Amino acid sequence: MTHASSVPILDRLAALEPGAKAPTIASIFVGASARPAASGATLKVEDPSTGSALANVSRGAAEDVDAAATAARDALSGPWSAITPQARGAMLLDLANTIEAHAELLARLEALDVGKPLSQARGDIGGAATTLRYNAGAADKLEGISVPLGSDFIDFTELEPLGVTAHIMPWNFPLGMAMRSLAPALAAGCTAVLKPAEQTPLTTLALAELALAAGFPPGVVNVVTGFGEEAGAALATHPLIDGVTFTGSVATGRLVGAAAGGMLKPVVLELGGKNPMIIFDDADFDRAVDAALDGAFDNCGQVCSSVSRLLVQDGIRSAFLDRFVERASQLKVAAGLDDADIGPLVSAEQHAKVLGHIKSARTDGATLRLGGGQPAGLDRGYFVEPTVFQDVDPASAIAREETFGPVVTAFPFSTETEALTLANALPYGLVAGVHTSDIDRAMRFARRLAAGSVWINGWFIGGVQAPTGGVKDSGVGRERGIAGIHNYLSIKNIGIQLHPSPSDGRPDD
Ligand code: ADP
Repeated sequence: MTHASSVPILDRLAALEPGAKAPTIASIFVGASARPAASGATLKVEDPSTGSALANVSRGAAEDVDAAATAARDALSGPWSAITPQARGAMLLDLANTIEAHAELLARLEALDVGKPLSQARGDIGGAATTLRYNAGAADKLEGISVPLGSDFIDFTELEPLGVTAHIMPWNFPLGMAMRSLAPALAAGCTAVLKPAEQTPLTTLALAELALAAGFPPGVVNVVTGFGEEAGAALATHPLIDGVTFTGSVATGRLVGAAAGGMLKPVVLELGGKNPMIIFDDADFDRAVDAALDGAFDNCGQVCSSVSRLLVQDGIRSAFLDRFVERASQLKVAAGLDDADIGPLVSAEQHAKVLGHIKSARTDGATLRLGGGQPAGLDRGYFVEPTVFQDVDPASAIAREETFGPVVTAFPFSTETEALTLANALPYGLVAGVHTSDIDRAMRFARRLAAGSVWINGWFIGGVQAPTGGVKDSGVGRERGIAGIHNYLSIKNIGIQLHPSPSDGRPDD
């Protein structure tokens, strides 16, 4: 595969091959170029379909974060501040075009690094470009308001860039998630330091150089690769950072939220879910099966908004589960580049965790309807079969804890009240869904389900325009949409006291 380009990192990334010798890539991108970590340390990036090394990247820590935050602070008060909102929008559009021009390489990297099927990775890269275009269009429409204080005053607001923003990213949609928060931050006029997940840094390495190629001044987009406890923690507590956006687990979200709170910095946290899909007897059966399959197994179930609990009404329960299990059993599992339906889990740690959840479900007495282990012939990488449990004790771990893998639990219900009680029973509240042909019931549930998003008669509804985020332990704040841009704006109120009018009340000329 060759990728002639003016962006040197792309050629190095294009040369990565599964099973080949893993190169070492300097990946602390500060200002205009990449450098090794100050300590010289590296960390291994794996191919999750085999567990072998793909590359070694820099293991950044506090000193590297400090250099990146300083570069971002300098850029904020440097040429970036003189660039008009319209020009910022044009740069975001250029970046979208640049990403699209390299979409096939970026999708291949995402498939290699995360393990996701290539066609799903292509969708992610297309989504990243769409996110950039949405935010590009908003860059010159971020208007303040005029505030009525009476005849002796003029008062108005201006929306200023929040400042230097930190983006601590997860491993499930590396470029997509980076763009979800970076694009609105740039549209708002902020600068950024990104910390990709240690498991999946590859596309983010390309991003910093692609941003330079698209015309962003050096220092506007900086990247520090490294472990969460080192680079991530240093970023969340750095004094030059004005706001932190984090997507990841609830446990780490609490740490990041506490760190940012200690610094009195605003924070956006998109955390986990144990998302229920409620299927009533009157649902469109086939549509509900399709939505449940997609919701449960897309990205190998490694999505915060995955369906992990199927609540099925008594009248169709047995037929629905039979069909769901039959369809899930037909899903093909293979390495990301083989482009099947389901890839491996991202890491050995995640693999052990998901298999541990499956084991505890069996110990707790749940009935295994499908899967439950490593697929035959795929014993090198971090693969898990699509897995379905029924007869699950609602108090057991598999019913309550986020698994983040291709594992679904099914629960029966007979009445609306029962369904609502089950759905709202957990500390999570990211997404909840309902399938019914009764519009009144759908609306009742839309209002009563405790979740940041409610999806009716479908799953993964939304897009860059639709705000997303959680209630309860699923997070703080909203991303995407116009709300997502306001995360990166600070309201300044400007008040003017007018001189008293001349005594005749006419303009003073
Ligand atoms: P997981 O447990 O699934 O790997 P995490 O929520 O721990 O997910 O990780 C999400 C992101 O948060 C990653 O970029 C990771 O490096 C980072 N991270 C992990 N621990 C910390 C921490 N203590 N402070 C800041 N960032 C962290």
